[in-house]
Amino acid sequence: MAEAFKLTYATMFNPPEELHTRFDAALADTKAALGKDYAMIIDGKEVFASEKFEDRSPANTDVVLGTFQKGDEKHAHQALAAARKAFPVWSHMPWQERVALLRKAADLIDERLFKIGAAMSMEVGKNRMEALGDVAETADLIRYACYQMEKNQGFVVEMGRDPLVGYTATNTSVLRPYGVWLVVSPFNFPTALTGGPAGAALVTGNTIVMKPATDTPWVVRLLAECFRDAGLPDGVMNYVTGPGRTIGQALIESPEVDGVTFTGSYDVGMKIFRDFANGRWARPTILELGGKNPGIVTRNADLERAAVGIIRSAFGLQGQKCSACSRIYIEEPVYDKLVTKLVDMTNKLVIGDPTERSVYLGPVVNKSAYLDYQRFIADLGENGRILTGGKVLTEGAFSKGYFCSPTLVDDLPMDHHLWKEEMFLPISTIAKVKSLDEAMAYANDVSYGLTAGIYGSDEEVKWFFDKIEAGVTYANRPQGATTGAWPGFQPFGGWKGSGSSGKNAGGYYYLQLYMHEQIHTLIR
Ligand code: NAP
Ligand code: MG
Repeated sequence: MAEAFKLTYATMFNPPEELHTRFDAALADTKAALGKDYAMIIDGKEVFASEKFEDRSPANTDVVLGTFQKGDEKHAHQALAAARKAFPVWSHMPWQERVALLRKAADLIDERLFKIGAAMSMEVGKNRMEALGDVAETADLIRYACYQMEKNQGFVVEMGRDPLVGYTATNTSVLRPYGVWLVVSPFNFPTALTGGPAGAALVTGNTIVMKPATDTPWVVRLLAECFRDAGLPDGVMNYVTGPGRTIGQALIESPEVDGVTFTGSYDVGMKIFRDFANGRWARPTILELGGKNPGIVTRNADLERAAVGIIRSAFGLQGQKCSACSRIYIEEPVYDKLVTKLVDMTNKLVIGDPTERSVYLGPVVNKSAYLDYQRFIADLGENGRILTGGKVLTEGAFSKGYFCSPTLVDDLPMDHHLWKEEMFLPISTIAKVKSLDEAMAYANDVSYGLTAGIYGSDEEVKWFFDKIEAGVTYANRPQGATTGAWPGFQPFGGWKGSGSSGKNAGGYYYLQLYMHEQIHTLIR
């Protein structure tokens, strides 16, 4: 690929031609080999279950992408036992060797970028650039964890020496891994949000069990193969599949889990938080949950920029990003002008088979999301005004997939419940505000605090950064009003109901969450 091009969510809008030709080639290969039976990976072995489930494409439900194992409680315990057994050797390996192995895994992910990206586009319904972005981000998250480990020299720090007379004291702070780490991930960024936490847990010396969403076992299997092929010893990385409420719940209830990273919905995350608290002692619980992310546009904004950034964030990945811009607050003097632009741009978005180059919006992930969309639209049509969209697409090629038109709504009463609930669909609600203080009051009046964006003057931006309650905030960004974070540039995490650790992934303070501190005091 053209050496100078670095793929990120901020640069993906104008990729070199070669990226498309390589994606098309990988897609053709992938389509020629669909429908295999994929095992779980436990203790380095391929493990099959007696029950299976089919993984179908949300763009065409006739297409079976693969068959996967419906793992149960027994497999949960097997995987945890394998991780336990592998822990002593892995945790005592010099951290430099772990870094080398994980860099190898990141390189394999890069090598397989197009293959995994093609599978992602078919399995999740992401357009090709979003799919490639997810995969590239995974490699960068793992590399960032390696870089942090190196930069901090394995987190061994000399402390002060006690002022003793007749003795010499040395005190050393050492960060050490907890043990067996569980990674439970969502459907929408299946490689980044499995591989990112996995990379952090592994490089710090934990061994892991990863459980992907039932909608996305395939791409996570391809990720697991990268870890395996990099040469991680058997049992260090285990990959299990099956329903969250059975195998997932069995993993959560096991005393053999020493720490967990869960990324997913608020409801499941809070249930896991409470269930996990029933152990014999408190264990680290990193939760990355939902969002209801506001975009604020002031009377001084560059409206062209605002419109581009908002549409990208509202409808990228069909609104199924935790960081999607689902609420838009616009100051009265520029309201009509901006809303006209937003509607115009929305009407130009191309919906269809997400693997096709020209397509921006693919299908939503599954039937339940498709039905939710129709339910929300009925409610919004009754209580507000649908400016554009509001329909499912059922003609011709659309008839076999879960295609929903991107929807903008205004005139929705400010106390309507859909101003506060995460819909996780291509639907955004718009309100006219009299002042910026009013916009800020609405923006913060939700349980979530993940991302937020503003378009306005320097003075207004300063005010916004100070007042907004969110972990990732953007100003005047055409690349995305509330979306498009990248490790090392925009560490990603949420406040309030959007997260538990208060520290963002892909940033300075993240890796430490995967280790507990031990002080070594020695008197000579
Ligand atoms: P989800 O329904 O909460 O599922 C997340 C994961 O939890 C899946 O692997 C699921 O497995 C599993 N699970 C369900 N019940 C479980 C249980 N009782 N015990 C253990 N595991 C269980 O979320 P999703 O629909 O996949 O993803 C969308 C949500 O993720 C949105 O709310 C979004 O905002 C959030 N998200 C947050 C971030 C962030 O960084 N803050 C990033 C991306 C997404 P099954 O699929 O088998 O049920
Ligand atoms: Mg599927």
